[in-house]
Amino acid sequence: MKLLEDRIREEGRILPGPVLKVSSFLNHQMDPALIMELGREIGRRYADAGVTKILTIESSGIAIAIAAGYAMNVPVLFAKKHRTSNVSGNLYQTMVHSYTHGTDYTVVVERDYLLHGDRVLIVDDFLANGKAVEGLLDLIAQAGAECAGAAVAIEKGFQEGGHALREAGLRVEALATVTQMDENGIVFAGET
Ligand code: 5GP
Repeated sequence: MKLLEDRIREEGRILPGPVLKVSSFLNHQMDPALIMELGREIGRRYADAGVTKILTIESSGIAIAIAAGYAMNVPVLFAKKHRTSNVSGNLYQTMVHSYTHGTDYTVVVERDYLLHGDRVLIVDDFLANGKAVEGLLDLIAQAGAECAGAAVAIEKGFQEGGHALREAGLRVEALATVTQMDENGIVFAGET
């Protein structure tokens, strides 16, 4: 998606990790017009996928998920980072390894909101090694729901997550795929 690629090229910063910092329009300060466009594009790509619900993960996926949910007219559920005191039997929970923090954390969703019979689209800001998407797939499986696919704003195609998830049969759509990022700049899929 050219709009997103242009913005990444103009404002993205490469940090060790490697981490692509897009805090000026997506992860900290947010550009509502751009994010609504991302949601519309996700809605267009999954228009015929029978999606009944969007699932994302706290916190950086929420804005894009809302935009997609608005475009698709479906509710948006976010997996909450677990705070030790409030676990109850009413929750599905799973462990996720954080790419940016290097730690494991638990996320939960209330059973009442993820239902057998739901056809769930996973939405997130980044796809790197695929751990966030795997965690959300685990929650969907626990609920006996189906997954229609995963849509991410930015896939780092040089990391293994997208390949592994597609190999496993999941439909994964990225609005921008970075194939290389280093001191020479950022290269997107389809560019030489
Ligand atoms: P994964 O679980 O696929 O390894 O990583 C995806 C998650 O880590 C996303 O939810 C995102 O918040 C974070 N993440 C991974 N790589 C990057 C990156 O390069 N930049 C930013 N800002 N977040 C990232």
